[in-house]
Amino acid sequence: MSGKRHENLEYEILRMIKEKGQEGILQSQLWKLIKATSREGSRISMRLERAGLVERQRILHEGKWTYKLVAKKKAITVDTLIELPCGFCYLQEKCGAGNPLSPCTCPRLNQWVEREAGRKQDG
Ligand code: SF4
Repeated sequence: MSGKRHENLEYEILRMIKEKGQEGILQSQLWKLIKATSREGSRISMRLERAGLVERQRILHEGKWTYKLVAKKKAITVDTLIELPCGFCYLQEKCGAGNPLSPCTCPRLNQWVEREAGRKQDG
């Protein structure tokens, strides 16, 4: 899979999971909607889970164990916003979905998300 396709899928998956709110969406339904293989989809959902953006809940559906994906609610504090790298980023105008530089591929933003996810788990 190309990096571009992977990046777009990741963005699309997160957007669709968020749209479902606390009801969430079954992995299998989501993969059908975005025409991804279960291997591609599972890899992305596990990455989103590691970043603390979604929760994978194991559930029994029509007699089979599967996962439901639910967006995590994150508490926003003033400290969190001050540390957000995009706030003072000189590359902001060139950055966006579909551009070579985007939030999906930015190492600085990725580090911030992982640090925030770690904080959330610690306390
Ligand atoms: S995602 Fe990265 S490159 Fe884009 S504005 Fe934020 S810090 Fe800058």
